[in-house]
Amino acid sequence: MNSQALLDPQIMQTFPKIELHRHLEGSFSLNTLYKIATRNKIDVPRDFESFKKTVQFPKNGKPDFLLFLSKFRNDWYRTYEDVYDICHDSVLEMAEDGLFHLELRFSPEHFSLQNNFDRIEIADLVIKASNAAAKKTGMSISYLLTFNRSKQDETEMIDLYRKLMKLNLNDIVGIDLAGDELNFPPELFKKFFQAVKADGRKATIHAGEVTPSSQIWTAIKELGAKRIGHGTSAIHDPELQKYLTDNQITLEQCITSNYQTGSWEEEKSHPLGRLFRAGVPVTINSDDPFIQDTLLSDDYVKTVSFFGFTLDDLIKANKIALDACFLSGPKKTELWNQYLLKIENFKDKN
Ligand SMILES: [Zn+2]
Repeated sequence: MNSQALLDPQIMQTFPKIELHRHLEGSFSLNTLYKIATRNKIDVPRDFESFKKTVQFPKNGKPDFLLFLSKFRNDWYRTYEDVYDICHDSVLEMAEDGLFHLELRFSPEHFSLQNNFDRIEIADLVIKASNAAAKKTGMSISYLLTFNRSKQDETEMIDLYRKLMKLNLNDIVGIDLAGDELNFPPELFKKFFQAVKADGRKATIHAGEVTPSSQIWTAIKELGAKRIGHGTSAIHDPELQKYLTDNQITLEQCITSNYQTGSWEEEKSHPLGRLFRAGVPVTINSDDPFIQDTLLSDDYVKTVSFFGFTLDDLIKANKIALDACFLSGPKKTELWNQYLLKIENFKDKN
């Protein structure tokens, strides 16, 4: 297969992808969100094109962190049916972009706040709806619970975590810490992550996206992060790169997202390519493709176009992702076997 073919978005959509960093709240089905907004009489334009412009970041617009953040609204939902519909339909659309295995992260708070829904019932509902959609498509899926740095303090996080863990769902494979890195550094959440670790759960932490590599070190050394969300500032820290490589701590990188939020100035100079060539475990992720008005496969085309990724490189990045996913035991072995077959299938067809 020649590298030109890898620049074809349609071919890239059929490449079997493993994704570790995607927020459900940033991955909505535009059509279903429009339907929900209409039936709940939410104050947004009724004309579909204007609605689209209102709810998404302008695809080729200038980076703008506050504009990007403003797109994450949590006032869409009025009923459990709204939550079910948006989760179900959004996961159906994710599978259309060639997702083979997805570790989907979501914040029960996001879906609950407007109506003060029960957090446990909502988490259960999100997973049921998403599983139902994944099953229809054959996509493998598991979940991370996202906790937001600025929404709760450490004690509230532990309390919510304990409640959610009563769900005892095997599908929840780990915990994510997201939100404002600058004002809420990782050391504020030490006790929370000690509790997570004591339960034998794995953690991934957003760090080093808009902060120096010192925050990545803290997330790993003091909070026990097994993976790092973004971690772009690792490019400035060779010692950290060696540590990540030696300890197989994987970076979940997101080219489009980092550009649109302004956390990395130019997509072509994004660290993903250089870190990958240096042997650091890096993976390709979309973050919030609905907000970004993109697909994960668009980020794949960018890795080919900007960093010269070959088919072998893409396969290697996906094997890194599969290795770093939080599943374990026979489930993971089975996933490996299936993935290798999928790759052979893709090669045969192209
Ligand atoms: Zn993220």
